[in-house]
Amino acid sequence: MMRIGHGYDIHRLEEDNNITKQYIILGGVQIPYERGIVAHSDGDVVIHAICDALLGACGLGDIGQHFPDTDPKYKNHDSREFLRLILQKVLAQGYVIGNVDVSIIAQAPKLAPHILLMRENLALDLQTSVNNVNVKATTHERLDAVGQKLGIAVHAVALLVKS
Ligand code: MG
Repeated sequence: MMRIGHGYDIHRLEEDNNITKQYIILGGVQIPYERGIVAHSDGDVVIHAICDALLGACGLGDIGQHFPDTDPKYKNHDSREFLRLILQKVLAQGYVIGNVDVSIIAQAPKLAPHILLMRENLALDLQTSVNNVNVKATTHERLDAVGQKLGIAVHAVALLVKS
């Protein structure tokens, strides 16, 4: 009656040399930042971790198998589209979202002002209520690469229930 899945993703942050962006996208929210996320798609590491949690819960492998980062079709791709497509696979298996819980590990920028909008975006794409989508953010206490602002990492857990 229930399925659970875990997802993890990390992306590098680089100062804006060849990256022309002065923002990052997390949970579908564009957040101003002096570094850009290095990625083939739009680099929405929050959504990538949630996609993997959903695929894990369904026993369907991982996001790279469904949307290869070598495919030019996915260059700068809106990750929310990945999430909506994966939700269709969840629904096709006869499940709906029970709840999703996300932990973002980022030394900077400050994410608190953006959390509610992320939850609203994610709930919309997952066809569930905001109450079922929790997003937390923590720093890495300046430890290791994430703590030195070289990357952003995300863990996600998803619970699916039979529809
Ligand atoms: Mg990724």
